[in-house]
Amino acid sequence: MNNQKRNTIKLGIAALAVGAIASPEAEAAAAKTPFKVAQTYIPIANSKEVFPVRRIYCIGRNYAAHAREMGSDPTREPPFFFQKPTDAIQYVAPGTVGDHAYPSLTKNYHYEVELVAVLKSGGKDIPIEKALDHVFGYALGLDMTRRDLQRFMGDQKKPWEIGKSFDRSAPIGPIHTVKQLGGHLGKENISLAVNGQIKQNATLSHMIWSVAEQISKLSEANELFPGDIIYSGTPENVGPVVKGDVISCKLDRLPDLSIKII
Ligand code: MN
Repeated sequence: MNNQKRNTIKLGIAALAVGAIASPEAEAAAAKTPFKVAQTYIPIANSKEVFPVRRIYCIGRNYAAHAREMGSDPTREPPFFFQKPTDAIQYVAPGTVGDHAYPSLTKNYHYEVELVAVLKSGGKDIPIEKALDHVFGYALGLDMTRRDLQRFMGDQKKPWEIGKSFDRSAPIGPIHTVKQLGGHLGKENISLAVNGQIKQNATLSHMIWSVAEQISKLSEANELFPGDIIYSGTPENVGPVVKGDVISCKLDRLPDLSIKII
């Protein structure tokens, strides 16, 4: 790189650093890139605004009966988290049934219905009693899982990313703000049916780690930021779907979420 070019780049970075360009949108618009990369958004109910997604965190084995069905002891296990890529989001509007393609590589494709908490602010080492102050709202989501690959990789002590973190593995409904909901969620009923038959049915109060505890724990491992979202775990009775199946999810105070496996 010649000196002139180097200086030009330095100047550009300096301009960003001193706040000459105020917003992330302006920053993105000012950056010269060889191609565009799409940002992921989730609609906010009854709003013209959309929620920009930064990271998708998911907690594992957060309901005792589900931990047992996955072969672990819920009384001894500290919480653990994994991530899905941000663009794994598949938004499904209320009142519609989203077409969801059966993914490649798996012969055992599982549903996991989950409450999703979305953050408007973040931080490090957030105390439990302050954690809910960072929650912007909630949505109903599915943590779709290639269970055979998750187990195969786990058995080999390899990362089970391929089982969890693939394209469109995170169907989700619209976000409802804490204000719209009139408070935080945590005691509501959550359920999932396949072709009209109830498969999962629990209350959020059965979570081992509450949303506040999850935020607090996560912020010890990673600094959290606005736009981070957290899939808060699934209750027991996860199971497989095949092409043609319709999954319908319910969570009190949020609209239903439905997808069809195609
Ligand atoms: Mn899950």
